[in-house]
Amino acid sequence: MANGRTLGVVAYVIAEPQEVTPQQCLKSAADLYASFGIEIDCKSIFPAPLEWFKRLQVGFCTLGNPLTSAHRLELFSLRPGADALDAALYFVASTNPDFRGCAQHPDDRPGAVISAKATRWTAAHEIGHILGLSHSNYPNALMTYSTRGIAGKPKCNSGEIEKIRLSKWLV
Ligand SMILES: [Zn+2]
Repeated sequence: MANGRTLGVVAYVIAEPQEVTPQQCLKSAADLYASFGIEIDCKSIFPAPLEWFKRLQVGFCTLGNPLTSAHRLELFSLRPGADALDAALYFVASTNPDFRGCAQHPDDRPGAVISAKATRWTAAHEIGHILGLSHSNYPNALMTYSTRGIAGKPKCNSGEIEKIRLSKWLV
């Protein structure tokens, strides 16, 4: 059960994002979560030039519902170097439908997909979903529908911070 304050992350770079590097994206996430009292332990960033997954069919992206995309299930079954509770972040070229990121994942395999349209806050946003958060209507919220519009440091309210601290993925 939840008791720790650390989320392990392993990233797989199938395609590089256009505006940020995976390293910058994960550093932004780690810095932000540190301010919430949560450590993002980025264990490894692996190059993973897997052409088959570059343009990922994600199907419906509805958090909390089972994955409907065989393509994405196949990708999420690949998580070398990741422990059971680590979040696997897959950087792909694009998703169909066209998302910046999507954190719907199998119940026993925490993770998210991040497309090449990622902003510096996309990893932090998707990690928010993995840790249990849903969307916010507040434009500068970390969990805003579009991280593109965030000015300055994204915000989480105290309720959201409470919630992520209870995540079962923290060790
Ligand atoms: Zn989202």
